[in-house]
Amino acid sequence: MKNLLDISMPVHERMSVFPGDPQPSFSTVVESGVTCSIATLSLHAGTHVDAPLHVFENGADAKGGFISGPACVVHATGPVVDAAQVRTWPLRRRDRVLVHSTLPQCRIDIKAARELVERYRILLLGLGFLSPDAMDDPLLPVHRYLLENSVVLVENLRLDGMAPGRYHLHLGWPSLPGREAAWAKAVLTW
Ligand SMILES: [Zn+2]
Repeated sequence: MKNLLDISMPVHERMSVFPGDPQPSFSTVVESGVTCSIATLSLHAGTHVDAPLHVFENGADAKGGFISGPACVVHATGPVVDAAQVRTWPLRRRDRVLVHSTLPQCRIDIKAARELVERYRILLLGLGFLSPDAMDDPLLPVHRYLLENSVVLVENLRLDGMAPGRYHLHLGWPSLPGREAAWAKAVLTW
């Protein structure tokens, strides 16, 4: 291992959040030289893992987890990733796929999601943007499809400047019993 890069998003008041979600806010008290902050923020602010409970009423909640394994960084070439584009990516079976886009509202077509699951049996889909679904689709069909197929879904990674290619992904998130998502820390090494 020569290089290590943190690809999780810094959390602050002015970060971009899902449209309609509140901006993170903090109240900080300094007393006798001791600083304590209370944070108010969505579980979907910053880099996070979505649990099945996010889209299924009786789905599993955010169990803590740690993943360490090979991953492929790919670049989306337009606002919608379709199945044909997925077939151009150099993926392996049971891959972890990290999709970078220069567009904040990139999305994954449902047929592309099927290609990732049926052809490659991917274990994890990580996104350098806020959601695999279209922002104006409240049914979140791609979320549902991925989570019912046991794909770990990671959103809002910081993949700017990452060249396409193979890396090793380390991803950890805390256990939040009864909650539908958990903030995550993600690191690439290569
Ligand atoms: Zn989310």
